[in-house]
Amino acid sequence: MAPVLTLLRSGHPLADPREQLAQLDRANAGLPFAARVAQCQAGPLRAGGLEVLQVNVGRVCNQTCRHCHVDAGPDRTETMSGTVANACLELLARGPFTTLDITGGAPEMNPQFRPLVERGYALGKRVIDRCNLTILEAPGYADLAEFLARHQVEVVASLPCYLEQNVDRQRGDRVFDRSLAALRRLNALGYGQPGSGLTLTLVFNPGGASLPPPQQKLEADYRRELRARYGIEFTRLFTITNMPISRFLEDLLSQGRLAEYLQKLVDAFNPATVDALMCRSTLSVDWQGRLFDCDFNQMLDLPVSPGEPATVFDLTTAALESFARRPIQTAQHCYGCTAGAGSSCGGSLE
Ligand code: SF4
Ligand code: SF4
Repeated sequence: MAPVLTLLRSGHPLADPREQLAQLDRANAGLPFAARVAQCQAGPLRAGGLEVLQVNVGRVCNQTCRHCHVDAGPDRTETMSGTVANACLELLARGPFTTLDITGGAPEMNPQFRPLVERGYALGKRVIDRCNLTILEAPGYADLAEFLARHQVEVVASLPCYLEQNVDRQRGDRVFDRSLAALRRLNALGYGQPGSGLTLTLVFNPGGASLPPPQQKLEADYRRELRARYGIEFTRLFTITNMPISRFLEDLLSQGRLAEYLQKLVDAFNPATVDALMCRSTLSVDWQGRLFDCDFNQMLDLPVSPGEPATVFDLTTAALESFARRPIQTAQHCYGCTAGAGSSCGGSLE
């Protein structure tokens, strides 16, 4: 299998988010998302609160998965500094957030990861690590699983199939084996075991240009197969729709399937998902401290609406209340969140 390079490293035009947005517009599928949403509710899409502070600490990763929406990889260098991480923690402490959600790249590779976890835990927040599993088996991270358990971090881990071939095709050679080793280690610490209080969530995304199957049914399949084949236990499964951006967008374009996939998302628009869209309750921060309505908008360089505080340093306590009702920035990729049963960092929306 040919190694996957980041779009940035290979000099691909799609490394520029403006080119990604232009491609989505050119595919010309359906009404503008904002207009479609306005048809099913009074007025534009607005945030409904500030529950989750999702901090993306950078694009460095030990893997280079085929469909990564971050264009992460070992050659990326973007890394959150201590100054920005401290500003995020200060915002977490004074804002109404219940949850600190840490993502990347492989967030554990960032020197700020452990201070973020320790402080989030000390503040009594629910702390989530969006973990690729293989990092738990990488040299230099031998104590990481114990560290996560000690701070009751919820591990949300990608495992797009319970079959080796499918995982390795999407995420790289030997990723499945190393993921199983990490899952066994997490299970041994109590993760995914009833009554332990240690939550292990697995994340499924389709291998190609299709919508995910129903979450509940797939969770039952995963539980049965992972238990029978490998003795692995987990708490729950999230299904996530592939967002037509970054490396998945590149894949769609190279197969000439972008228009078809976008149309599939548009045709599957489900008004019942709109209230629960994650941008309505999440604030996303990038490695430089800039603010976005979600991680996908972050990758497309679509910041929060003009006139709103632009960075974690600008979001004063006085501004929090109105900011929690800010209008959301949308574009055609948003149809990925409203298709079928809906999709978010918390799985399906129905
Ligand atoms: S592990 Fe996650 S962040 Fe890293 S390349 Fe894969 S999808 Fe991207
Ligand atoms: S892509 Fe982001 S802004 Fe658009 S609907 Fe999904 S969560 Fe909301």
